Order: sequence, then structure tokens, then C-alpha cells
Amino acid sequence: MDLASVQSEIERVIVTEEELQNRLKEIARQIEADYKDQDLLLVGVLKGAVMVMADLSRHINRHVEMDWMAVSSYGSGTKSSGVVRILKDLDKDITGRNVLIVEDIVDTGLTLDWLKTNLNSRGAKSVEIMTVLRKPESALVKVDVKYVGFDIPKDFVIGYGLDFNEKYRNLPFIGVLAKHMYE
Ligand code: 5GP
Repeated sequence: MDLASVQSEIERVIVTEEELQNRLKEIARQIEADYKDQDLLLVGVLKGAVMVMADLSRHINRHVEMDWMAVSSYGSGTKSSGVVRILKDLDKDITGRNVLIVEDIVDTGLTLDWLKTNLNSRGAKSVEIMTVLRKPESALVKVDVKYVGFDIPKDFVIGYGLDFNEKYRNLPFIGVLAKHMYE
């Protein structure tokens, strides 16, 4: 879906499609170098990471495997609770594997902090994190994120996998939702 289709619903675009893809290509080069001659399993967190997983994995010029998890960190509202439930677990055992968690956004950090600990406890050889976006001002816990696409302000953002009431995931860029859409 293009910008023209949602122009009145978006306050501003904060990361364009071109900026996103260029950054993902840079990160893909880093991943190739960091995991040279080593096994690599990408773990996408549903549903937000679908877009980045599809694009990042295609920029990586080597074999990778992919698996998916779905977790719920929020109760009913839009505030992170720190209580994480697994809605869909990994299909495969990760003992001895190099796991790279692929995420859309790190907000408070509570979800990823929990997820990293959880995957480490399963005997993975390594567990690292790649995220498209990070909101440094929102951090409640310090999570070591190896690859960050962009640091952004605290605003609620949508697009490129990120939703508002399940919509806007199919935008190829990231934007701030206009206030009149939720106030
Ligand atoms: P955390 O535990 O880091 O606070 O929560 C991370 C999750 O909160 C993300 O995976 C995402 O689902 C949701 N989230 C946090 N900030 C935003 C945002 O600005 N926009 C959207 N659409 N979701 C967000």
C-alpha cells in the first residue's frame, strides 16, 4: 500500500522504503561477516517481523534457516506488561544453534529481555537480536541488541509490519499515526 492511500491517516513518515532497504542491506553484510562459516537460525517474532524477515533474509547472501514464534506481551491495552505468553512456539529444537531473533521494534525492552532469556535457557549456542526500530527513551530494561535499524522517538509508529488494530502492516515505510486516528 502506498503513502497516497493513507496520507490523511499519517502524521509523518519517519523511515522511507529506500532508507529501510538500504539499512537492511548494511545489516545483512554485517550478519554475513559476524556469522562467517557458522550456522545461523533466524527467529522471527510474529506478526510484526514478517516484513523484515522477508526482506532481511533475502539480502543475506548465504544459507540461513528460519523459524517463528508468536508472543503476547501486552494485556488488553497498548502498554507493555512484562508478562509474556507464548502463543506459538518454535518448531525445532535450538540446542547448540546460533539464534538471531528478528524483531520489528524494541519499546520497553521487556518482551525481548524475556525472549532472549527464554531462548538461552534452551541451550542455544548464542542468542542475538536484530530489530528494525528501537525507542531508547522508552527502555525499562537494558537489552543487548546487536543490530538496530533505526533509533526513533517515543511516538506510536505503524507500517512495515507494525499495526494499529491489525491495519497498516502492509505499508512499505514507517510512519507516525495521526492523532485523530486514535483520540
Ligand atoms: P516491548 O516489550 O519492547 O515494550 O514491546 C514490544 C512490542 O510492543 C512490539 O513487538 C510491538 O508489538 C509493540 N509496540 C511497541 N511500540 C510500538 C509502536 O510504536 N507501534 C506499534 N505498532 N507497536 C508497538
